[in-house]
Order: sequence, then structure tokens, then C-alpha cells
Amino acid sequence: MSSGTEKKAYEGKSITVTFEARRCLHAAECVHGLPEVFDPGERPWIRPDGAEAERLAEVVRRCPSGALQYELVDGGSEPSDRPTQITHNSAGQLIARGELSMDTAAGPRAETRVVLCGCGQSRLQPYCDHTGPCGQAASG
Ligand code: SF4
Repeated sequence: MSSGTEKKAYEGKSITVTFEARRCLHAAECVHGLPEVFDPGERPWIRPDGAEAERLAEVVRRCPSGALQYELVDGGSEPSDRPTQITHNSAGQLIARGELSMDTAAGPRAETRVVLCGCGQSRLQPYCDHTGPCGQAASG
């Protein structure tokens, strides 16, 4: 099983948004939250200068899978939720938010939001990649 996940960066004047397609669960918190920034019909599909940086950061933090992340150009990065929360949804996934250290094949990785594989079929362990029935049933 591969745990590789390619991160693509979209640079704006005040904020850089990154996206890992294999972790995206496709329920469009981003597209619904800020359609002027996130438009899958356009290339690039993320335009960070389409909204004020704080508003964009708030919408990125809604992405439950962590497929979307951000860094502010002035050095600010995403704060972790406190206390860390872990929930188990009916589709079998584990959803965690907080100060997280993920054990990946590439080594430990700091995270603030993840959706973890609950069915064992993901090829992106420990993350859900919506390969199995839990990912297909869930929303992103
Ligand atoms: S998982 Fe994140 S990036 Fe994918 S559609 Fe949902 S909010 Fe957008």
C-alpha cells in the first residue's frame, strides 16, 4: 500500500492554499463555502486572491479531510482545535480534529484535520482515500 500524497500549492498574495487530491472526499464544503475561490470548472480550480485571506482560511478549516490546508504569507499557519476530537461516523471512518501526529510510511506528519480509513481498503493509509465503501458513503 502506498501512503504517498501529492500536495499542490496555489499561491495568493496573502495566503497559499494546498490541496491533496487523494484525500479529498468530494462533498464540496469548499465549493459551497467560497465559490469565488473554489471552482472545479476552472483552471486553476483554486484562486486564493478571490477572497479575503481570513475568510478563505475559515473555509479551508471546514474541509474535514485535510485535503485543503493553508499558510499565511506572513507566517501564520492553521491553529489546532482544542481539545482534540475524534468521532466515528456511520460510514466507518474516523474523523479527527486537533493537534495530530500521523504515522505515515513517509514518517510522522503533523496534521490538524484528518479523515482516517475505517474499512482497511484505502491505498493512502492511514487516510481515507474513498476507495472502500466507507469513503464512498461519506461526505467531504
Ligand atoms: S474534502 Fe475538502 S477539498 Fe474535498 S470537496 Fe470536501 S472540503 Fe473540498
